[in-house]
Amino acid sequence: MARRKDWDTYFMDIAYMASTRSQCSRRHVGTVLVQGKKLLGTAYNGAPSGVSDCSEAGCMLVEEFELVQTDGQEQVVKKQRCIRTIHAEQNLLLFTDREDREGSVVYVTDQPCWTCANMLANSGITEIIYHRSYPKDSEKVGALMEQKGIGFRRMEGYEPPPGTIADVHN
Ligand SMILES: [Zn+2]
Ligand SMILES: [Zn+2]
Repeated sequence: MARRKDWDTYFMDIAYMASTRSQCSRRHVGTVLVQGKKLLGTAYNGAPSGVSDCSEAGCMLVEEFELVQTDGQEQVVKKQRCIRTIHAEQNLLLFTDREDREGSVVYVTDQPCWTCANMLANSGITEIIYHRSYPKDSEKVGALMEQKGIGFRRMEGYEPPPGTIADVHN
């Protein structure tokens, strides 16, 4: 008999399943809202409903300069980002009720960006559990969560379910 999955693994697996719905070729992010052991919502990054998504209209790219640390050296790197989609975390907030979010936990495949983290910090949730890290905003997001008293942790050693990791172009 297969070993029973713990709750963290169970809900992160569902977040990865949700991420497979994303049509953005650059980033597939999934997230779920959980209260106790109850699943209250799922979301992924995507264009507003009824509007052409990245698979139909292509990604809507913007170029940004980012300060990146490599081997202790700071470097300015030009990066492209797709802004067509509403981030998974923001969709989760759009599709859930404030009442349901009070005291709930958010599982998300990727560490939230600054904007999403800022919104989550004001959404009533008490913990964020993520898998893949996002170094760009990591420091300020961590500081924000500490100030808000919101649990913020990475699932170490977690393996996403087979077939849920998309071939993304960054
Ligand atoms: Zn896109
Ligand atoms: Zn975001």
